[in-house]
Amino acid sequence: MVGGAGGAWAWTEREDRVAAEQAATQERAADALDAQVRDVDAIQAQAADAAAAHVATVRSDARAVLAAAAEDARATLATTEGKVADDAVRQTLATLVAEADARVAATDPAAATGTTGPHSATALRAGAAALAAADAAATAAHETWLQAEAAAAAAAVRPAAKPTARPATGAAAPSCGTTYTGPPFYTSPATAGGDGSNGKLPPESLSAISWDVDPRGTPYYLTTAAAGALERLNAAFRAQFGHNLDLDLTYRDYDTQVAMRAALGSVAAKPGTSSHGTGLALDVPELPCEYGWDTPQRDWLVANGPAYGWVSPSWAGRNGSNPEYWHFEYRG
Ligand SMILES: [Zn+2]
Repeated sequence: MVGGAGGAWAWTEREDRVAAEQAATQERAADALDAQVRDVDAIQAQAADAAAAHVATVRSDARAVLAAAAEDARATLATTEGKVADDAVRQTLATLVAEADARVAATDPAAATGTTGPHSATALRAGAAALAAADAAATAAHETWLQAEAAAAAAAVRPAAKPTARPATGAAAPSCGTTYTGPPFYTSPATAGGDGSNGKLPPESLSAISWDVDPRGTPYYLTTAAAGALERLNAAFRAQFGHNLDLDLTYRDYDTQVAMRAALGSVAAKPGTSSHGTGLALDVPELPCEYGWDTPQRDWLVANGPAYGWVSPSWAGRNGSNPEYWHFEYRG
């Protein structure tokens, strides 16, 4: 029994030792595993900290952008106060500034974390963009207001320009006033079979000027001598002004003068007495005002016409008995 008992004890002792060794091994393994788990946790915690720090940095930058936009807007509000046509644009800007101030100053936990919501970097930058747009609108409204003020101030010190019915060709507006309100009359063709008296000049006593016809296609007739002189005068005129002399009427026949007298009364020459009936007179256009009083063209014609036999009669002058700046006569 003892031997048997001793053998049993020895076995049990060996078994216990093995078991203890196994337990120790398992414990070391468990410790190692715990250590590994702790390392992973630490790494994860570091990553989370880094991510949070990054989010915080981005949000901080965005908050600074919003704060700067609010500061700019505050300056714009100060500059434009009372100086926009409609204050609604400033009120919109002021509302956005107040919202921005509140978000920049927010310290509650919700404002310190998270990548979404009103305190996220995305939302803060969107707020800054909205502020900048409202700021630009207020600035534009202010500039419009300034321009209107400047225009009003200029109008206040400068008398309003009087409307003028006559076109001006130069700095000193010439006068082209005319009292004629009757129907249009045109230059006349030669009078077939005319006896040579006033308004009855036959074709053989007239010549057409070379460079123009009237709106109805009728040549501008003058006596041959007057037409030749006018050709030379026109060449000098063209050299001076770069275009031909404009004509409105030259020869007028008797029948047309009768019609004018009927239409206009004593303003028209009595039939048989008009200088246009002699083929020795021309009219330049009354309008537009190229040939009006004090125009370079009329001054040139008055000064240079006599060298070619063409004059402005004294009665047609500005202080004459019947002022007609458009009328010239050939005196040879
Ligand atoms: Zn005339």
